[in-house]
Amino acid sequence: MTVPDALDTLLAGNRRFTAGTPEHPNQDAARRAAIAPAQSPFAVMFGCSDSRLAAEIIFDRGLGDLFVVRTAGHVVGPEVLGSIEYGVSVLGSPLVVVLGHDSCGAVAATRAAVQDGTTATGYVRDVIERVTPSVLAARAAGHTEDADFIDTHIRHTVDLLLERSRVLAAAVDAGTAAVVGLSYRLADGTARLITARGADVPAGTPAQ
Ligand SMILES: [Zn+2]
Repeated sequence: MTVPDALDTLLAGNRRFTAGTPEHPNQDAARRAAIAPAQSPFAVMFGCSDSRLAAEIIFDRGLGDLFVVRTAGHVVGPEVLGSIEYGVSVLGSPLVVVLGHDSCGAVAATRAAVQDGTTATGYVRDVIERVTPSVLAARAAGHTEDADFIDTHIRHTVDLLLERSRVLAAAVDAGTAAVVGLSYRLADGTARLITARGADVPAGTPAQ
């Protein structure tokens, strides 16, 4: 699948989901058997762990379609980078998606921590520290709305993946892969394209 095909397939699935007309493709026994020997997912989905953000459901896909990596607040570490690189360079996925969403608890907790100077305990603190650069950038830009903080964090995460991963940056430069940022709205289920690197799609194109 090409980059535009992969993005179109994903957004078409999201439209079916939001319209309440899902087709549940690739979820039957025949598909399970067909892909048991090998997988070739058409997208790497790197999203927030939020329980309301279940990848195959909100994009109306099935088995073998998405290589899914999720962390709270889609924060990036070595395991995340290795998993994404595996999806692109070994499995051959042409599309990497950073999936953020409104009312994200990780972003809200980081905003509170920055504002009040509070800290979290244990490894939650690590999550907050990794979201902090995005929150500081959004504040410096004068943003106050949740949506602006979310979009800033999604853009920062896309940039960070390309900055950290040479494998990913090389694939984007070669035109074999693209990294896009989607912002998901919990209430209506829409996924809006807010940034694209290497994709043949203009950033800001609404998914609906
Ligand atoms: Zn979240």
